Formats: sequence, structure tokens, C-alpha cells
Amino acid sequence: MKKSLSFPSQALSKIVAFEFKADFLVIIPQKQQTHGSPFGHFYAKIEGMDKIIKTISESGAFRAFVLDSTETVRTAQEKHQTQASSTVALGRTLIASQILAANEKGDTKITVKVLGTSSLGAIITVADTKGNVKGYVQNPGVDIKKTATGEVLVGPFVGNGQFLVITDYGTGNPYNSMTPLISGEIGEDLAYYLTESQQTPSAVGLNVLLDKDDKVEVAGGFLLQVLPGAKEEEIARFEKRIQEMPAISTLLESEDHIESLLKAIYGDESYKRLSEEEIRFQCDCSKDRFMNALASLPSSDLEEMKEEDHGAEITCQFCQTTYNFDENDLEELIRDKS
Ligand SMILES: [Zn+2]
Repeated sequence: MKKSLSFPSQALSKIVAFEFKADFLVIIPQKQQTHGSPFGHFYAKIEGMDKIIKTISESGAFRAFVLDSTETVRTAQEKHQTQASSTVALGRTLIASQILAANEKGDTKITVKVLGTSSLGAIITVADTKGNVKGYVQNPGVDIKKTATGEVLVGPFVGNGQFLVITDYGTGNPYNSMTPLISGEIGEDLAYYLTESQQTPSAVGLNVLLDKDDKVEVAGGFLLQVLPGAKEEEIARFEKRIQEMPAISTLLESEDHIESLLKAIYGDESYKRLSEEEIRFQCDCSKDRFMNALASLPSSDLEEMKEEDHGAEITCQFCQTTYNFDENDLEELIRDKS
């Protein structure tokens, strides 16, 4: 029996516990406005593109992805006008999708559906292998914090439910895989999903930190996975490091959180950077696409829109872009159907 097979059962439960702990240590940093230019790095992030760096340990026993998703989540917040809990929940799900898409090759699309039963409603995100992600949360207005600490609450407002992942390799036969939500904190749910459905021992840390105005200050995360053939002592070493790792919020708060994450994951161990790729919030909707959607409606509905409303307006739920169709557009659709 390969030694790596013994890892998931016991050791992973500790890693999942770590994630649980990390996700609950949500710290909303209070901006200090007392000296010089305290937001130097903050402004630098506005300029920069988000990125994902893929790495592998020198021994080949582990691989890790680290992400800066600040602009991705900031864009999502702006487009959907989300309140604190909704921003963090949607942001974490967007990061989870970016991680899952980074795990795929070719022209693959990953849809994540966090199907919770509480007030946030469903959270739906779609990511592709070109670095694009889009998404929305059914209720963008959830804004609940602990009074004493200002900590944004997420899990209780996701609630119980399912973590559904749809993988579309472009063959027209999407593959569905579902695990129960463990805590609704998303990071932990993703770690559980990866371990259960992909049978790969995985540690995940991801979070979104908000500033005092509940705007996105920083967002990002990491995925660490054991590769086949990892030796027991190597696994033990990484496990220990993961357990001793500072909370993801603390790492995200540091000036260069990508480097801090890598340092926390690998310590003094040597590793290789395999790639660095841009990632972004980008919707693929277009007027043509919605024209096709309208074309699927019965002619009588199209006639009604034309005669009574003199047009139609469709808003993309993934990015809130509104497309207007005038009487000529509708007439064209009706003609094509007859
Ligand atoms: Zn759109």
C-alpha cells in the first residue's frame, strides 16, 4: 500500500479543523490614518492585476496555488452592490472557483453552486481556465456583524445545504459532483469537497477582508495538495507547518500577501514556481447571447413585449449589465421564428 493513502483519514481532519479555525478568525482591520501614507500598498493593489501562482515543492510531494483575488472581489462588490456578509460570501466563492479552475486543463468551465438554506440564498460562480470568473449571490444585502468585534458573519447565513461543482470540459456532458456544506464558511467546504470528491488531501485557506467602510481591502487564498508518492515524514512536516500557520486573515493583511502565503506554506523548504497567471472578474455576456435567450421564447410573448412594452430589457445576473432590445430587435426575432 502506498503510504500517501494513509493521509486522508486522520491527518486531513486536522487540516480541515485548521481551515475551520482560520475561517472563523475573520479580522476586519481598522485602517490607521495617523501617519504618512498608510495605504501605500493598498493603492498599489488597485493598479495591479490579480494573479495566481502555481508552485511545487522541490521533492515533488506537494503543490500549492496562491492567489491574489482583491480586484476580482472588488469588482464583484461594485457590480452587485453587496453588503458586508454578502461580499465576503460571494468573494470566498469566487476565490474557490478560481482555485478549482486553476486545477483544470484545456478549455474547461467550473460552476460552483453554494446551495445554502439561509438568508444569503444561493451563491453561483463560473470560472474558466483562462482566468475569468463571474458570479452572484442571490441576496446581496446581508450585512451582519458581531457587535463586539465587528467580525463579518458568513456561515450562519449560508446555512446548511450543498456544495455543488459542475465541471464542463466543453464536450456537452458536464460532470456534477456534490458534497454537503460543512460550515458554510466556503473555504472549509471547498477543502472537504476536494478531499471527498477528488480524493486529494487538500488544505485550503481563503478570505476577503473589508475596510471600515465595508469595501474590499484584500482578498486571496491558497490551496495546498499532497501529490501521489509523498513520503510520510514529508506529509508530517507539511501538516505541522499548516497547523502552525497564522490565520489566513493575518497573512492576507501583510504587505505582500502572496509572498507571505508562500513563506507560510513552504517555510525554508525549496520549491519551484511553475507559472504566474492573471485572473479577473469578467463576464462573458453579450447582447447576442441574450438575443438567443429571447429567441427561445414563444412568438406570442415576443409580440406582447413588442406591442405592450415596445421593447425588452434584460439584466445579466452575473454582472448586472443591462441590455435593451427595441421593437426592431423583437420584430427580427418574431420574423425568424415564423
Ligand atoms: Zn454579464
